[in-house]
Amino acid sequence: MFNKLALIGIGLIGSSIARAAREKGLVKSIAISTRKQATLDEARALGLGDSYTLDAAEAVRGADLVILCTPVGAYGGVMAHIAPALEKGAILSDVGSVKQHVVDVLRPLLPEGVHLIPAHPIAGTEHSGPSAGFPELFVNRWCVLTPGPEADPAAVERLTAFWRGMGSKVEAMDVSHHDLVLAITSHIPHLVAYNIVGTVADLEQHTKSEVIKFSASGFRDFTRIAASDPVMWRDIFLTNRDAVLEMLGRFLEDLSQLQRAVRIGDGPGLEDMFTRTRAIRRSIIDAGQETAAVDFGRPHPKDGEDEPKPAAAGLVREHGGGDDA
Ligand code: NAP
Repeated sequence: MFNKLALIGIGLIGSSIARAAREKGLVKSIAISTRKQATLDEARALGLGDSYTLDAAEAVRGADLVILCTPVGAYGGVMAHIAPALEKGAILSDVGSVKQHVVDVLRPLLPEGVHLIPAHPIAGTEHSGPSAGFPELFVNRWCVLTPGPEADPAAVERLTAFWRGMGSKVEAMDVSHHDLVLAITSHIPHLVAYNIVGTVADLEQHTKSEVIKFSASGFRDFTRIAASDPVMWRDIFLTNRDAVLEMLGRFLEDLSQLQRAVRIGDGPGLEDMFTRTRAIRRSIIDAGQETAAVDFGRPHPKDGEDEPKPAAAGLVREHGGGDDA
C-alpha cells in the first residue's frame, strides 16, 4: 500500500486510477493536480481525491507514488516544475502511450533517489475528462511497465502490485519494443481511422450526408476511434514518429498488395488473407481482450422501438473496440 498517491492530470485515465485505487484500498490518500480550475472543480465534485491543487509541486510533496496522467507533450513542463519537490525514495511513473520519449524527457531531470518506472495501461475509451473515468477500466487489461536496467527491483515490484491491485495484468518490456508494438496495434489503427473519417469529411456535401445516413458498422467503428482526444493523439504521433513510420511503411506495402489483388481479381488471395485476419480476431476474443458479442455488444432495437441511446445502454464504458491508446 502507498501512503500518498499524487495524480498529475485527472482525465479519463487519472480519474480511473483514483477511483480504482480508492475502491481497492491501494493508497491511504490521493492528491490531485491539474492545469485548469474547471477540471479541478469537477474532480473535487466527484470526490476523486483527498486534496486538490493547481500546483503540481504541492501535490507531489510527501507522495511515495507520483503518476503523470497528462498528454505526453506536457511531461517536460510538468517534470521541470515537480522535480525539486519529489521525495527521495518515491516512485515516479506515468501512463503515457509512448515510452522512449517519456524516458528521454523525464530521466535528465530525475532527482537522485527517485525511482523512474514508466507504465502504460492498455485500456481506455474515446472519452476524456474526470467524469469519463470508471474503476473497472483496467480490469483484465494489460499494463506494460518499462523499467530501465538500473531500476530498483523492489520499486518495480511495488508498482506491479499496485496495477495488479486495480485488476490489470502486468508485463515488463523494453521501451523501444513497447513503442514498436504499440505503433502497429494502436497508433497505425488510429491513423487509418483518422484518415478514413477525414476522407469522408472532404467528400462533397451530397455524398457525405449519405455516408452519415447509411453509415455501416465498419465506418461507425472508425468514427468512434477517430473521435479520440485530438491533443493526446497529436502528441502520440509527434513523439513516436520513428516506430509509426516504420510500421506505416509495412502497412502501405501490404495495402498495395491488397490493391493489386482487387485489381487483378485474385479471389483466392483475398479469401486467404481475410481467413487469416478472421483467425486473429478469434484469438483476441479467446485471450479475453474483446467481446464475442455481435456488433461489439451494441443493443439493437426490436420492431417499433427507438434506437437505444449509447449512454443508457452503458456503451460509454465499452473499451474493447480499439479506441484505447
Ligand atoms: P484526458 O482525459 O484528456 O485528461 C488529460 C488530463 O491532463 C486532464 O486532467 C488535463 O487537465 C491534464 N492536462 C492537459 N494538459 C496539461 C498540461 N499542459 N499541464 C498539466 N495538466 C495537463 O486524457 P487521458 O485519456 O486521461 O490521457 C492521459 C494520458 O494517458 C495520455 O498521456 C495518454 O497517452 C495516456 N493514455 C490514454 C489512453 C486512452 O485511451 N485515453 C489509454 C492509455 C494511456 P486540464 O483539463 O486541467 O487541462
